[in-house]
Amino acid sequence: MPELGRFAPTPSGRMHLGNLFSALLAWLSVRSRGGEMLLRIEDLDTARCSAENADILRSDLEWMGLGWDREQPAQSTRTDYYCDILRRLEETGRVFPCWCTRGDLKNAANAPHASDGHPIYPGTCRALTEAQRRARTALRPPLWRLAVPDEVVAFTDGHYGPCEENLAAECGDFILRRADGVFAYQLAVVADDIDAGVTEVVRGRDLLSSTPRQLYLYRLLGAAPPRYAHVPLLTAPDGRRLSKRDRDLDMGLLRERFSPGELTGRLAFAAGLLEEEAPCSPDELIPLFSWDRVPLEDIPISLGS
Ligand code: GLU
Repeated sequence: MPELGRFAPTPSGRMHLGNLFSALLAWLSVRSRGGEMLLRIEDLDTARCSAENADILRSDLEWMGLGWDREQPAQSTRTDYYCDILRRLEETGRVFPCWCTRGDLKNAANAPHASDGHPIYPGTCRALTEAQRRARTALRPPLWRLAVPDEVVAFTDGHYGPCEENLAAECGDFILRRADGVFAYQLAVVADDIDAGVTEVVRGRDLLSSTPRQLYLYRLLGAAPPRYAHVPLLTAPDGRRLSKRDRDLDMGLLRERFSPGELTGRLAFAAGLLEEEAPCSPDELIPLFSWDRVPLEDIPISLGS
């Protein structure tokens, strides 16, 4: 079986240069080992995502020469499958309903915070009795959390090396499904990667801290996890992180200012794959790709010509 990598973009706006950089490295990593590429549109949050944006994403990837071999059904169409996965997780006895609001958690005295800034869940609803749960359900629907163990999840990232996190101390019981019924990214991404047989996940370093949660879900579901490799983030020249709000670096404007070859050349240079900036295609970079060349530090990039 060939390796299977994936693009998993969220169609909540136009891709920016950082998304494109991660997509290029994900594509090169799997193609350089003769593997295949999957595209999955991560539109769980239907209020923020649109089919029109998804079409634009596909066209931006094609314009860059980053083709894929197949497309998985979009996340917004997969509720029944995610319900099955949630049921399987419930069988472990670790899923519990929770009525705490964001405000409750913020106000909890001395609540410790995880590295991504969210308050660590203090366990308030974990041990409610059946009668308490019935009484609260009558008032409003709960969200669903996974009770995590006081245990270190360790793994070796394909780029950043050994990583570990104690889920109870550093993350806390995390959300699997919101009270409005929308499934959480952590559950959906694992469910879909398992279903497609993804063997390699390459994505931005901002998602490195989600990996221990996802590995724990793999363990509970009895599935073999993929290999993970995270990529450094591109920043503005002043070190500010790029975001979808940076209109000057979104694909609409990039496509007006650069040819696909020029853009690929600049990204390949930033990734350490070229000694100097020169137009090239993703295909031409396949034999040059090596994780050893890719920097670990975030990369300031300026697109002034
Ligand atoms: N959909 C996520 C994003 O656009 C990526 C999720 C992943 O690669 O695991 O940031």
